[in-house]
Amino acid sequence: MTGQESGISYLSLGLINLLLPLLIWVVLARLRSRVVALWCLGSLLGAGSLFLVGRPGVLPGRIFDSASNLMDFMSMLCIIQALRLDQKVPWRFRWLAVASLGYLLLYEFTRQAQGYLTLRMALVPFVALILLLQVVGWAWLIARRQQSVSALAIAGAHLLLAGNMVYILANLLLPRSGALACTRQSSGLMDMLGLLAALAGDVGFIGLALERSLHQWQEAAAGEARLEERQILGNQLAHLDRQRGFGLVAASLAHELNQPLTAILASAQAAQRGTAANRLNPAQSLELLDKIIINVRRLSMITGRIRSFIRPAEPHLGPVDLEQITREMLEMVAPDLQRQDVRVAFAAGGELVQVQGDAIQLSQVVLNVLRNAIEAVQLVPERSLQIQLTRSADEAVLSIRDSGPGLDPEVAERAGMPYFTTKADGLGLGLSISTAILQQHKGSLVLRNAEGGGASVDIRLPLLGAGGVLP
Ligand code: ADP
Repeated sequence: MTGQESGISYLSLGLINLLLPLLIWVVLARLRSRVVALWCLGSLLGAGSLFLVGRPGVLPGRIFDSASNLMDFMSMLCIIQALRLDQKVPWRFRWLAVASLGYLLLYEFTRQAQGYLTLRMALVPFVALILLLQVVGWAWLIARRQQSVSALAIAGAHLLLAGNMVYILANLLLPRSGALACTRQSSGLMDMLGLLAALAGDVGFIGLALERSLHQWQEAAAGEARLEERQILGNQLAHLDRQRGFGLVAASLAHELNQPLTAILASAQAAQRGTAANRLNPAQSLELLDKIIINVRRLSMITGRIRSFIRPAEPHLGPVDLEQITREMLEMVAPDLQRQDVRVAFAAGGELVQVQGDAIQLSQVVLNVLRNAIEAVQLVPERSLQIQLTRSADEAVLSIRDSGPGLDPEVAERAGMPYFTTKADGLGLGLSISTAILQQHKGSLVLRNAEGGGASVDIRLPLLGAGGVLP
């Protein structure tokens, strides 16, 4: 190859090497990754060095060699650093600067010092060989860890270049006749090899980055699906638990429904008899019809409450009056309390205690705790519940204490774990679902033995405006 031809070929190699990192940058810009930036910087430095070799006159002869060698060295360092950074074990950047300076000084020394010709000629390929082997090692490690074909391509391409360096070193250190001539003749081939290796390396890198982002995307999608599944499962369990809780209060609701129904029947019969005997004036008819309407409205309120309590609905955020929902749940369990002869003392303090949340879910928590307390007091002759609602500056505490047998140490430790139950017909879900609901409301549930006997449950929730929110 003539000097001019080789200059042009170096320029073209430089141009291709310049375009490749730019292409990578464009393709992978979306990733905004330091690894990509370092790799591209490495490739650009390599391209810059090729340009210098292709246009020797651009820089004064003295600094031309040093500049192009330093750029090559830094280019390799950037590529190694990109791979190390990818594996979360980067070198400190200040060490890279020190190494570059050290390399430059060593190179300058071999240039100035007399009698170091072989060292001078061998220094560049020797250092290049070490750096290339580093790239091969890291790319190989990534290929093995991530089963990545692209990383394997990077390792293979750089192994090819390392082989090239071994060949050059062998020619220098084991001089045989014609070996140098052979080196010169084949330098065009070597350059082509270098370009192909750089090309394969760059394409491999794009592949690696794309493989990585595809993998991340798949992981994120799988994570989202898992979360969604857990949420659906959680909602279904909560629904099941509500239905079970509803079973307990069905008797009380039947009683509640019975009252307006009886009133409707009585009014309708009175209207029927009065009309048949022609004894009703319009005002009396209207009064009876009014009574019927009022009781039908009451009925529809009760059925609405049942429907909304057992509906498997999404959380519905709003201000919740803790005293009101506690009283409603007490009403629900009233027939049970009567049947079991359980005395209830409810101290609410007279102040409005409001929290932010889902009224149905919070009612479910109160009902679960009441249900456990009622079941616990069935085991003792003296049956009572003490309920207290208090508020501090930013927190509401609903405390439900029962006169039951309290908790054994083993039960105290395990109560609240999903599926832990000591009851023959228990599901062991009430407390864990209640805890989950309260956590979603930034609150908590604590079940413990009360002083003086029995068990006590504290339900704590941030007061409205004190940071209690649902996700
Ligand atoms: P389940 O009521 O279906 O057993 P829970 O999660 O509501 O499920 O309760 C788990 C266990 O915690 C109960 O089986 C019981 O052993 C214990 N426990 C809960 N509340 C009380 C209480 N007030 N007194 C004594 N033990 C209780």
